[in-house]
Amino acid sequence: MPASTTKLTQVELPYLIVGQGIAGSLLAWHLEKANQPYLIIDNHHQTSASKIAAGIINPITGRRFVKSWMIDTFLPFAKSTYQEIEAQLDIQVWKDMDIIRFFMSNAEGNNWLTKTTWEGYDKYLKEEKNADFLHQFINDESGFGTVVGAKVDLGKVVKNFQSHFQKKGVLLSELFDYEQLIVERNQVRYKEITARKVIFCEGFAAFKNPWFAHLPYESAKGEALIIRIPNLQTPDIIKKHFFIVPLEDDLFWFGSNYEWDDLSNEPTEIGRNYLEKELKQILKVKYEVVDHLAAVRPVLKDRRPAIGLHPTNSNIAFFNGLGTKGTSIAPYWANEMTLFLTEGKEIPKEVNVQRFKLPVEAN
Ligand SMILES: Cc1cc2nc3c(=O)[nH]c(=O)nc-3n(C[C@H](O)[C@H](O)[C@H](O)COP(=O)(O)OP(=O)(O)OC[C@H]3O[C@@H](n4cnc5c(N)ncnc54)[C@H](O)[C@@H]3O)c2cc1C
Repeated sequence: MPASTTKLTQVELPYLIVGQGIAGSLLAWHLEKANQPYLIIDNHHQTSASKIAAGIINPITGRRFVKSWMIDTFLPFAKSTYQEIEAQLDIQVWKDMDIIRFFMSNAEGNNWLTKTTWEGYDKYLKEEKNADFLHQFINDESGFGTVVGAKVDLGKVVKNFQSHFQKKGVLLSELFDYEQLIVERNQVRYKEITARKVIFCEGFAAFKNPWFAHLPYESAKGEALIIRIPNLQTPDIIKKHFFIVPLEDDLFWFGSNYEWDDLSNEPTEIGRNYLEKELKQILKVKYEVVDHLAAVRPVLKDRRPAIGLHPTNSNIAFFNGLGTKGTSIAPYWANEMTLFLTEGKEIPKEVNVQRFKLPVEAN
């Protein structure tokens, strides 16, 4: 392992990881548990969705109240992973939380009632919940139901992993320059580093990666507001089209929107106006905006993660496409990716990056 993050001399490793968002962090953590040396390169989280995400795990989503993909597997796996990390890094990041879901119409409320009787949905949906005090704060036309969910402080996870990796001397804080990667038959070389594999975890910025430029990216920018709502004290997440997530004291995370044309990380006036317009319709009371955040979610066209090896070069790997649900799905897939790398466990086709074919001339 390199002793310093600033003065690297000749370094030989099994794995070089690019990107230290939730994907790169969890992958490195699993490799560490499997006694596999690694080095991470990250550009100070310059484009990190993980740093600003609300970290909500919402098992029942959409207007039709559909169970989230593989949630029965992902949720318990995520809980035990984050709790293990809490113990190791001495932090608190996981919270079981109810989501008070306000209905947009009476029909939605009826649909909800039906869903509460479906097998497999009952553990995530509660009919009864004493949250009537919310009527002082929230405009409610059609009632609400309760989803049993959770929240993870993803920003805290990534920040604490950053310190952990720095202390171990395995984090190099700089922009990875694709042009300097030399791919040889059994290894890759990057400046002074020689690795068996480079694993790219750059989040939405992967569209700039020449080895994975052929993927059908549909990344979506999201903006969020940090707001103060005086006197609103609730242990629950409120969902009315948007999410209002309790942080500390009377501060809340509010968001977020979806924007596909502007993929910068900058908060915009258009975004803020849009969010505030929605907020005014939801809230009956005054609020104050204390911060405005933006980042881009790494989304692929088929809304599935993309993990595994480059189609023609087995020294180059990918762990990305966590989309809108990185909090719940990253723990499980980081473990599967590690099992693939260390034990050759097969990656399911649905998430294998090789489901996307290279253009013919590149083969
Ligand atoms: C507004 C918003 C709200 C969200 N809310 C939720 C939520 O409530 N629940 C949920 O599950 N998900 C949520 N998400 C989605 C979630 O944030 C993502 O799924 C997840 O964070 C993606 O993690 P990642 O590690 O793949 O990417 P990132 O977190 O973006 O990390 C990529 C890292 O790679 C670095 N990097 C990129 N290129 C290079 C390079 N060339 N050299 C060096 N470093 C590089 C970046 O700086 C960054 O640190 C939200 C996203 C947004 C934008």
